[in-house]
Amino acid sequence: MRYKESREQSAELLRMVLPLMGRHAAGFHPLSYAVWYEYVSGLNPGLRAALDARVAQTTNLTDRDMEALFDAHVAMRDIESSARMRVEIARLVEDVDGVACEADQEVQQYGTELDGYRQRLQQETARETLHKVVESLLDNTSRVRDKTEMFHEHLKKSSEEVERLREELELVQGLALCDPLTGLLNRRGFDHQIQRLCNGSLQGCSVLIADIDHFKAINDAHGHLLGDKVIIAVANVLRGCAGERGPIARIGGEEFALLLSHTSAAGAAELAERIRASVERGKIRRADTDESIGNVTVSIGVASCAATEQFESMLARADRALYQSKTAGRNRVSISDRAAGAIA
Ligand code: GH3
Ligand code: MG
Ligand code: MG
Repeated sequence: MRYKESREQSAELLRMVLPLMGRHAAGFHPLSYAVWYEYVSGLNPGLRAALDARVAQTTNLTDRDMEALFDAHVAMRDIESSARMRVEIARLVEDVDGVACEADQEVQQYGTELDGYRQRLQQETARETLHKVVESLLDNTSRVRDKTEMFHEHLKKSSEEVERLREELELVQGLALCDPLTGLLNRRGFDHQIQRLCNGSLQGCSVLIADIDHFKAINDAHGHLLGDKVIIAVANVLRGCAGERGPIARIGGEEFALLLSHTSAAGAAELAERIRASVERGKIRRADTDESIGNVTVSIGVASCAATEQFESMLARADRALYQSKTAGRNRVSISDRAAGAIA
């Protein structure tokens, strides 16, 4: 995952970025912010080297420099979303900058006032006047305290927003949506795709859930590394059999889901059977002994969308069909043929 920083770390990066942007006279705009963010986060060694080289040539960086660095080292996949986020980041940076300036002016003014108090305290001897000086000092001190508290509050809010933007950046880059082991979607990515598809309609769709049988025993007998190899092999079978027919995800440790658009229950059952048979035929060997680990099998549940049914309800029916496959002896396909919510 690209942006792994915690909320506090993101806020810290924001604090490191602002002075750098000022020092190198880079434009106070989101593109420049994105470049400096990647620079200070240490996420992007290529960018770091290129930026260091540019700074060695010139102290003042132009917008053209920042654009070139952005395009070469940070360019995002989803142009539309990144354009929207640039605006949001710009607003955030301007906002923090504005409040920081205000707080800074307030503190500077307070410093000047303190000098004034020092002088007056040296000159005044009357108790009444001294009392007035202290009263006024108190007023001014609470005013600055309120202002800096406001600034802290503001920074806290900003770091929350930075955190939200970080999550969005991950989404834009697709990094939060993929399962690194298999390259399939993860549960979040699957939900994301479903939401997009649900804006159309799920009418005519089917869903299939496949779960590796007795996987714990495979792990126990051959170790987690080989277990991982089995998960990858099953993912590849799903990919090979389903092709481009719909999003495929690893939704749990050894559990997969596949949404099939424009596919009847019969069509989905036929594909599920092909997947089941293909997994059963596959041969996986231990790397150390070259010994076959025996048949790996999957159990599958299938459900087709009933009229006006919500995705979650269809998925729950497929899950119950999967459970039927498990209890009926595993290595089989079960189909939920009832209307939404009516399956046994
Ligand atoms: P069943 O046939 O009923 O599905 O039994 P099972 O053993 O497959 O199911 P169970 O839920 O008991 O065990 C699943 C195991 O999968 C437990 C967990 O340790 C393992 N597991 C989860 N994620 C991973 C992973 O990423 N890699 C490996 N190697 N194992 C994992
Ligand atoms: Mg299992
Ligand atoms: Mg399972």
